[in-house]
Parts: sequence; structure tokens; C-alpha cells
Amino acid sequence: MNDEINSINMESRDERSLLALTTKNIGTLNWFIPDVDKMVRLSIIKNPLFNREIFEKINYKEYELTKALLKTNFLTKEERTNIEEDLGILKQKRKTTESFCPLPWNHLGIMTNGDVRMCCQMIYEPFGMLDVNVKNIKNIDDVRNLPAIKQVRKEMLEGKKPDLCKLCWTEEKSNLKSKRIHQNSIYTTLPALAKKYTKNDGEIDTTKIHLNYFDLRLGNKCNLACRSCGPTETDQWYKEIWNIGQQSFSFYNKKEYSLKENKGKIIIDSDDFSWPQTTSFLDQILYSCNKIDRLYFTGGEPTINLSHIQFLEKLVQEGLAEKIFLEYNSNGMAMPESLLNIWPNFSGIGIGFSIDGANEKFEYLRYPGKWKKFIRTLSKLDEYHMNFKKITASLAPTVSIYNFLHILDLYEFILFNTPTWFSKHMPIHVLEGPAYMSPKIFPDHSKEKIQIIYNKWLKNLESIEKIPKVNPKFYNQIKITAKHQISSLLTYINTPLPNRDKLLEEFHNKTKFMDKQRNQNWKEIFPELVDVLL
Ligand code: SF4
Repeated sequence: MNDEINSINMESRDERSLLALTTKNIGTLNWFIPDVDKMVRLSIIKNPLFNREIFEKINYKEYELTKALLKTNFLTKEERTNIEEDLGILKQKRKTTESFCPLPWNHLGIMTNGDVRMCCQMIYEPFGMLDVNVKNIKNIDDVRNLPAIKQVRKEMLEGKKPDLCKLCWTEEKSNLKSKRIHQNSIYTTLPALAKKYTKNDGEIDTTKIHLNYFDLRLGNKCNLACRSCGPTETDQWYKEIWNIGQQSFSFYNKKEYSLKENKGKIIIDSDDFSWPQTTSFLDQILYSCNKIDRLYFTGGEPTINLSHIQFLEKLVQEGLAEKIFLEYNSNGMAMPESLLNIWPNFSGIGIGFSIDGANEKFEYLRYPGKWKKFIRTLSKLDEYHMNFKKITASLAPTVSIYNFLHILDLYEFILFNTPTWFSKHMPIHVLEGPAYMSPKIFPDHSKEKIQIIYNKWLKNLESIEKIPKVNPKFYNQIKITAKHQISSLLTYINTPLPNRDKLLEEFHNKTKFMDKQRNQNWKEIFPELVDVLL
């Protein structure tokens, strides 16, 4: 190894790629040939020193690399023709890769009222719903070849991007890591299986492609009434809407549920949201889906949901638990011992805490949550982690207009105030609805101010020399990821939005109205937002 190779951080693909691209030393360039990272190999090909000798040694059978190779000037006519043919095949393959997602093949989502949908990321009408409720399902496999899901598979295999998956495409356009990309990194063998056992019309052989992953929302019982939520996901909103004169609510424009008063309490006039107790669907999962490797629980709030704990107990009794990884989205207000006691039976636990802000900002957005309760949960888990290492957790905020600037503080919170084992990467979910809370509604002058604030923060991030309890070799990676996310958020808010002025007006009116209801004042809680909106 020569000095220039020694001078870089070998764990950083960015640094390796940069040197492979810029080195003027042929020895250094040769040294990079075995690198398995595509970005590094692409840099080798783009380096002006790249020559026939290296061409014969390098693995270039990938789309971008093949394309870059065609720009070199030492290929023979025959080599050029062969590479062009390879490029055609890779192009087709790439098209499918860019549209493929495992979820329409190996996953089902059960909504809080028992309706079945393809994926929770399908947030635009018709929301990926399969127009069937668990109370009517005799055999789970019957659901897996319903027309809507077949159509999504068909389009994906044809290299088309289904409209239903719009949120993933939008996030990817803004360089955010979409759910689709994440699922592809987990279920790497599924594309080949899907190709083999899917008919041209999207029908699958359910005996060959199994359900691996369920999203289970076991009702809407919750302990919070977050600003961005509503009665479909938390029963704490019943009272809120009742108080403003609303006696029913719509479930994704498909069903209407009535509320009524009973002994001073506002309750729902339906047992749909009690589906875990009133149907046998969880038992069907238990006894017919033995290839499950992941379960995702969210809300309602899973930590206070008895059906959730009972289901986990049954999974343990049936000997299925050790193969299953449990994923959660939790508001972090509770962490019962019964849950902590049962988790070690599973292959691992991953919790995304839906924390959109710290201190009073958290309490405003996740009303009536208390920040100190979250801190208590965190220290409880820290203690728990001493004996059970297979648990990971991260902050998983939803970014709206309210907390767009506050995301920077959340980064600082995870970098400086969370335990060693707590993830220093923060998966960000950008709020798309209700539209009047979307960060896309910032007026242009606000976006300019935000850009300045973000740039200043990025400069500060660069100058951070020590992150407590973090191995220094990860500093760079953490900084790169944070920078990438911040610039993706900036790209995101610049996405054109029709009716922006109207939505902004709605933001002011509705926020004022809700503030009055809850005795809160957004201007006191988010002074930095007031400044950028001025
Ligand atoms: S592409 Fe996105 S929206 Fe579509 S199924 Fe996959 S994760 Fe869901």
C-alpha cells in the first residue's frame, strides 16, 4: 500500500471512490481492482488512466459500469458490440429492479378495523385496500390473488411503477430511502422466486411463495391523540372530534363509523376495531403461516394492547417465535414488563419510536404525551439491553411543517443523548397527509430561510469532532447519512404542490382551531417556524 492509499478511510466507500477516480498513480488504480463496491469500480473506469489491462481484470457486468465502458476508446469493434448487447439485457433487468418490491408477494397488512391492504405505504386512494375484512376470510391464501394485488405484481414484473406505490417513487426521486428499497435489501431472493412462480397476469403460486411478513394493527386503542393522527388510528381522537360536533368519522373513504355517548364516555358504535378478539384471524395466521419471519406492530399503540401480548405468547407456545423478528412503531410512553419478558423468545426486536420532537415540541405534536415518559422508557430499555442484546431502536419521526426545522435538534438528541446501542441513523417519514401539515406547503421565501438554517447546521455537523459513546470510525458514515437526509428533505419541499397558498391558509386556521381545543399555542412552541413563515 502506498501513501495515498494509506491516507484514506478504507471503510468509507466515498473516500475509496474519490481516490479511485482522481489518482494519477497507476499502481493505486490497480490496487482498487478487486473492490466489490460498484461505486468504486465505476470510478476506476472513469479514471483517465483506465486501460485495456485493467479492463481485462475488472468485473464490469452491471448497468452503469457497462455504460461507462462504452465511452472508453480502446475497445475493439467486437467487444463494443458484445458490451452493447449486455447493456440491452441489463437495461431490461434494471427496469424490473427499479420497479420491484417484495411486499405484493410476501406480505399483507391488516388495518385497525380489520380491513386488509397490500402495504401501509400506499397512502393515496384507494390505499392499497383489497376490499376484504378479516372477519370474512376463511383461508388467507384466497386473499393473495385478488385482482388489485395481481395488477400490482403484473406491473412490477413488466418494469412499470404502479401508481399505488407513488409514495415510494416520490421518496426515491428525492433520494430518500423508500420502504421498497428497504424491503428489497431484506428479501433479496424474492425477485427470482417471484419471476419463477408468478403468471403473466400477476397470479402467484401460493404454495411456493409464502407470507413472510405481516403488518398487524390490532385495533386503534392508543394512549395519545397526536396532531397528525385521527380516530381511525387512535380511540383518543373520539372525544376530540365529538367535542367539535362530529358524531361519525370516515375510514379511508370506504366506511363510516358512528360515535355515541355512553356513561359520559365517547365510544364507537361498531366492534370492527376489536377484530383481534371478535375474529379468529390471528389463529389463522398462527396455524397456517409457518414461514413468517417478521411481524410489524403499530397502532393504536402496541405496548398497551393486550391482544398483542397474547398473540406473542401463542407464537412462543407454538414454537414459532425464535424465527420471527418483531418490528414496532411505538410512541414510547409505556414499556410493560410483560412485553420485556416475552421478547427474548424472538429472533430480535426493532423499535422505531414515533418521536417528532423533543420536550415541549413532542408534547404538542404527540398530545397528551409526556417527554419525560419517553426518557424513562429509554433508560428502561438501556438497562434491559444489558441482558438482551438483540434489540435495536431508533427515532422514527414524521416530518411535517411543524417540526421541519426541529429535525436538526432531533439529530443532536440521538448523537449526544441516546445510549450506545441506540441507532444513530434516523429513518425519516415525510408526512403527506393531512395536506395542510405537509412540509411542501412552505412558501418560497421560507424555503430560502430554511436552506440557510440547514446549511449552517451542516457546517456545524462537519466540525463535530467527537460523538460520545460512538466509535470514531463511524463518525464519517453518520455525517454522510445525515447530510444526505437533510439535502433530500430540501429536495422534497421543493416538489411542486398545487393549491399551496390555500393549504397554508388552512394550516393557520386549523392549527389555531386545534390549539384552542387543546389549550396550546403553536407560536410559543415553534418560534423558529414563526420566523421562517414571516
Ligand atoms: S413499492 Fe412501496 S408502496 Fe409499493 S408495495 Fe412496496 S413498499 Fe409498498
